[in-house]
Amino acid sequence: MYQGRCLCGRVSFSISGQLGAADMCHCRQCRQWTGHVLASTEVARTALTITGIENLTWFHSSAKVRRGFCSHCGSSLFFDPLDTQKHQWIGVALGAFDDKTDVSIAQHIFVAEKGDYYPICDGAPQHDH
Ligand SMILES: [Zn+2]
Repeated sequence: MYQGRCLCGRVSFSISGQLGAADMCHCRQCRQWTGHVLASTEVARTALTITGIENLTWFHSSAKVRRGFCSHCGSSLFFDPLDTQKHQWIGVALGAFDDKTDVSIAQHIFVAEKGDYYPICDGAPQHDH
């Protein structure tokens, strides 16, 4: 069981079972949403339990995706593809976990849109999109 929460604690979550693939997304939308990049893990929808969901706001960043953040403290928490038939997973921000995650970054995506102020040095594969 893995657990995490937003900065103020009004939204928390727990995940049963193992966490899925972890990646870092450097696209412009993730940069602006997080203030840097989005490091997230793909979690089966059925494995995720959210507490305090009344404090969660969903922002539809495109026709395909909504992003969940705490209405009070602003923590970026969930990346939710709207086509739930095609996508059985929801992305959960790794920075919000309370403790260990037992995953490491498997890839960097949308590197073509990354900021110019940091290098990527961890050796994980990098993809332009
Ligand atoms: Zn909060």
